[in-house]
Amino acid sequence: MIPVTTFSGRTVALFGLGGSGLATALALNEGGAHVIACDDNPAKMAEANARGIETGDLRNADWSRFSSFILSPGVPLTHPEPHWSAKLARAAGVEIIGDIELFCREREKIAPNAPFVAITGTNGKSTTTALIAHILREAGRDVQMGGNIGTAILSLEPPADDRIHVIECSSFQIDLAPSLAPTMGVHLNLSPDHIDRHGTMEDYAAIKQRLVAKAGLAVIGVDDPMSRAIADSCQAKGVNVARVSVEPLGVKGVFADGETLVGVTVSGAAPVANLSGIGSLRGAHNAQNAAAAVAVALASGISPEEIRAGLHTFPGLPHRMEEVGRIGSTLFINDSKATNADSTEKALKSFDDILWILGGKAKEGGIEPLTSYFPKIRKAYLIGAAADEFAGTLGSDVPHVQCGTLDNAVAQAAADAQALGSPAVVLLSPACASYDQFPNYEVRGNHFRDLVRALPGLEAKGA
Ligand code: ADP
Repeated sequence: MIPVTTFSGRTVALFGLGGSGLATALALNEGGAHVIACDDNPAKMAEANARGIETGDLRNADWSRFSSFILSPGVPLTHPEPHWSAKLARAAGVEIIGDIELFCREREKIAPNAPFVAITGTNGKSTTTALIAHILREAGRDVQMGGNIGTAILSLEPPADDRIHVIECSSFQIDLAPSLAPTMGVHLNLSPDHIDRHGTMEDYAAIKQRLVAKAGLAVIGVDDPMSRAIADSCQAKGVNVARVSVEPLGVKGVFADGETLVGVTVSGAAPVANLSGIGSLRGAHNAQNAAAAVAVALASGISPEEIRAGLHTFPGLPHRMEEVGRIGSTLFINDSKATNADSTEKALKSFDDILWILGGKAKEGGIEPLTSYFPKIRKAYLIGAAADEFAGTLGSDVPHVQCGTLDNAVAQAAADAQALGSPAVVLLSPACASYDQFPNYEVRGNHFRDLVRALPGLEAKGA
């Protein structure tokens, strides 16, 4: 835990007692602050109480007592409408901040030179965060990884000069961290997402830009126009920028030339690593993630040999084009995190001869955007509520079968793959939310993995 000593002796209000909210309240208490915590869910209030945290009804509180208001990133600060607690804090002139801000202030106080890498972007945040942490760890560094990827930042070990914090930041977390100034800031890409929570695309981009604007080194993906504008604007303001691209670069940075990652410095371009054969980093999207990770590793003084070793041993994250195993020449892939057509496109791009398991609770537009990949599909196995709609889109172009459940789909796809007798990929990439049949995408992906592992003859990945 990182005790938050910068609020010692002060009274602060906190709303939102999910995982990171609870960790934040504990860290504030430990550092000597007086925390009054609140949540709309009485069970969360009771849990916090049991952990020694004072809870109270902030609706009727005297806000002039609070020196700050700590808000969970999941609670709306501005859009679609500020949460009642944010409105009360504003009305009372109390600053509204989040756990990343508390970390930044604590770091500034106890170890201002402690290396701190912060990562954001619309897509690829978790993969890039995990990859950076993995490369640095494999090279022998003391790494603390957390933030939006899982472990709450204040549950990690405290910052120190010989310890690197690698932290994934959502835009909501950045919005609540006005003094965010990491040693290295990584911004990967920008596409419309969460606009309901940020108002406009310009607001969303402005928030993302704040993660790199005060970074010692700003590593910025420049493959979309708005991120390119962020890189240009940072550079114009004198920020040290390293660009990342899947197209050749003529300026400082790292780019992917197919599967080769090339570093560009003032002395020219030189290949650093090759992604060929690395199952956890397939596809152009992962080349962007890997290029960003390589830029951070190079700037951290990691040698190209160590970088190559780290890339090759990266296990990947579960549910994102995760290799579950093989039966003969059939590869089984769990891409349960693909809850929309955009994400599924990455998987369809990355494989051929696909036996595609899809369906669930459809998003607007369904699988219409994926029709150009249909020639790669050997057969589709439909599950869940979207099955009829998707059958309509697949039409007569793609052989398909209604399976109802994931259990049936895996059994039928495995049997068809065996009958094919040629290389094929059984791919769960649903292009749908899971809620009609599973509590979340993780449970869906875990169930797929269990079903595949129970198939006769499976050679599990890593076994
Ligand atoms: P995030 O943490 O930003 O949600 P993840 O690393 O968890 O991102 O990846 C989630 C999904 O986003 C992946 O399954 C893939 O479909 C897509 N994705 C990953 N990296 C990128 C990228 N660099 N560009 C576009 N899409 C990506």
